[in-house]
Amino acid sequence: MPFLDLPPWILSLFLAPFGLLLGSFSNVLIHRLPQEAPEDRNVVTKPSHCPSCKAKIKPWHNVPLFGWLWLRGKCAACGWRIPIRYPLVELLGGVILGGAHWLLPFGTLIWLKAVLCAYALVVLFFTDFTEMILPDVIQFPLMVLGVLFALPQLAWPETLTKAWGQGDTLIQALAFHNGLQPAPAYHGFEPTVTWQASLLGLAIGYGAPALLNQIYKWIRKTDGLGMGDFKMLAWLGAFWGWGPMLGILFLGAGLGAAVGLPLMLTRRSGGQTMLPFGCFLALATPIVVFFGRALWLGYLGVVG
Ligand SMILES: [Zn+2]
Repeated sequence: MPFLDLPPWILSLFLAPFGLLLGSFSNVLIHRLPQEAPEDRNVVTKPSHCPSCKAKIKPWHNVPLFGWLWLRGKCAACGWRIPIRYPLVELLGGVILGGAHWLLPFGTLIWLKAVLCAYALVVLFFTDFTEMILPDVIQFPLMVLGVLFALPQLAWPETLTKAWGQGDTLIQALAFHNGLQPAPAYHGFEPTVTWQASLLGLAIGYGAPALLNQIYKWIRKTDGLGMGDFKMLAWLGAFWGWGPMLGILFLGAGLGAAVGLPLMLTRRSGGQTMLPFGCFLALATPIVVFFGRALWLGYLGVVG
């Protein structure tokens, strides 16, 4: 793979435009997946249109980021102010694909896993933020995908991964190198995300919040979490194993409380304000994936 010999910044320049396009597609998913009518949820064949006046968007106005700048943030047909979310998601898309190989080795399974996870989190953050919906159509495939990512280790056990760099096994080992590794924060400290850890993550990811929710229900007589939140934790558990998933749940709950409690106190709304918990899970995930172990040790240090 000659790509691997390229300096990282050239790779960034090459990948970022594709990332912008994926960001643009993420915008389509964010806008259409929460829609009620099935035909409005079509994200494949329906051409881009203005959500306000339904006018078709001209191809040159649809160029990620630049289209928005060119139009100065307004629909060419009706002048509808395009929410800042659109260029922001496109930019995030560019940063994810253009930047991931600075953190993880390009072309490996762990790189692919992290990139897919990042795009999924961007989409879910904004569907939850704008509509309080975490669409099943992406969460169920992500659960399956998370478990699938753990399977190559059955065909290529760890001994082969260790053969990385040794002559003729180089390419095969290279393709899966790190694919079997845990979240970067846990590198070298924890076992790999085994298929058992992945399946446990899936099961506990769904089960633990369901239990918490039941307790919350006994106390408050209302749901504290939505079903979408359980499914999100389930696929995050399948992706990163049950340990990091629990870290994401607790950090997400902490962030939610940090934002939610002041809101509750100032509004005196009786605690009925629903917060989009998926947003906090999405924010917590990269923190736990990259810094989870350090945070956990720091926490133990404070408590102990
Ligand atoms: Zn318009």
